[in-house]
Amino acid sequence: MTATHEQSLPVLPNSTELPRLGTTIPYERFLDCVHCGLCTAACPTYLETGDENNSPRGRIYLMRAITDGRIELTDTIRGHLDLCLDCRSCETACPSGVQYGRLIEPFRVETLHHDQKSGRPVQDGWFQKGILFGLFPYAGRLRWALAPAKLAQRLGIDALMTRWGLTRLLPEKLRRMHRLLPTLQDRGPSLPDFLPAIGPRRARVGLFTGCVADAMFHHVHWATARVLQANGCDVVIPKQQVCCGAIHYHNGAGEPALGLALTNSQAFAKENVDAVIVNVAGCGSMLKDYGHMAEELAPGHATAHEELSRFTAKIQDVSEFLAKLGPIAPTHAIPQKVTYHDACHLCHAQKIREQPRQLLSLIPGLEVVPLPESEICCGAAGSYNLTQGEMADRLGRRKVENILSTGATAVVMGNAGCSLQIQAELKAAGSSMPVLHPMELLDQAYRGA
Ligand code: SF4
Ligand code: SF4
Repeated sequence: MTATHEQSLPVLPNSTELPRLGTTIPYERFLDCVHCGLCTAACPTYLETGDENNSPRGRIYLMRAITDGRIELTDTIRGHLDLCLDCRSCETACPSGVQYGRLIEPFRVETLHHDQKSGRPVQDGWFQKGILFGLFPYAGRLRWALAPAKLAQRLGIDALMTRWGLTRLLPEKLRRMHRLLPTLQDRGPSLPDFLPAIGPRRARVGLFTGCVADAMFHHVHWATARVLQANGCDVVIPKQQVCCGAIHYHNGAGEPALGLALTNSQAFAKENVDAVIVNVAGCGSMLKDYGHMAEELAPGHATAHEELSRFTAKIQDVSEFLAKLGPIAPTHAIPQKVTYHDACHLCHAQKIREQPRQLLSLIPGLEVVPLPESEICCGAAGSYNLTQGEMADRLGRRKVENILSTGATAVVMGNAGCSLQIQAELKAAGSSMPVLHPMELLDQAYRGA
């Protein structure tokens, strides 16, 4: 840490009177950081602002200083921490193995709902209560809420509202939600509880369907289930499963996140599956982190920890699972040039880079061209593109410029949040390039559809 950076920190005169923050984080995690700065070039918010306080090194320093009671959590410091995408690109770059996600996530749980001055919990606003926690985590509610939007799209009312500038009358967060809304497809039939393997049975798997993805990308779940069937898997889809809890956990609501985790582990525990398959990087990363979350939120609750760790051991991204199983090569050609975007929670959080590319390379006729800055966040980052609009837009534009520079006719990615963000930015740039999930292409290549 530079002297200039240290001097710029507001030192707290009588910090002992304030409630301590950061105490749920084992202190050694801060000490793993040796301040070498090798992570800064990988951090999207540092790349965009050039401000050390918006870099991983700077944020670790700030969180540690708050934990030590050396500085106060002012609005300015909160702003630097809130601007973090939790994309974990810094973890990939860090040679010292700093677990940045395991610093910022529990720190947010402590601080987002806590006023340090008064020591009282901060009340959630209408957006948190009504939309983030009251709507997004429930696929059924979300489907109902999207029905009028779908009708408005079909009747052309939506396009007229945009052309006449009427959407500008909406509150900012609703305006951003409207901007992110893709052309809503027909949902088709709901997934059944069970789909049998095609050909000799090679595995029995559970399919995690989640919330936003289930309401908006149900066709991707169908494609994933068909690809698994075509690869000899019985597919079980338990109805009791719920949202993965990432929306709550990443917005500081730890307890509800833990409740959702336990419901999910119980929903799949009865099914005796070899693996639980996830096709959304953000959900997969959260599900794989359940054990850690229990350690942090329910220390001493050994049963919850054991149960969640058992469940976590079964979680696999669909590309990870198929690459291990040995995918059956599809036979129908897709003569297209596509490019592949690495979703942060797939490449940085789950270290899955090669498997989706391997699967795409099996499709006859498909050419996959490299995407510059493929591993830099697109600005979606869960609900970040609703709460940190300016930075999300800057990163979205940067991503789209890179995508368009490849000359590809479609862009492929394994995360619903990235799909929403990138399709909105492509639209804003005047491009109608399709945004696809690898499973959609594989499904087409198996079926010749
Ligand atoms: S997080 Fe890692 S790469 Fe970044 S400054 Fe600390 S030790 Fe260096
Ligand atoms: S998680 Fe992403 S945005 Fe946050 S400090 Fe690390 S690289 Fe930067």
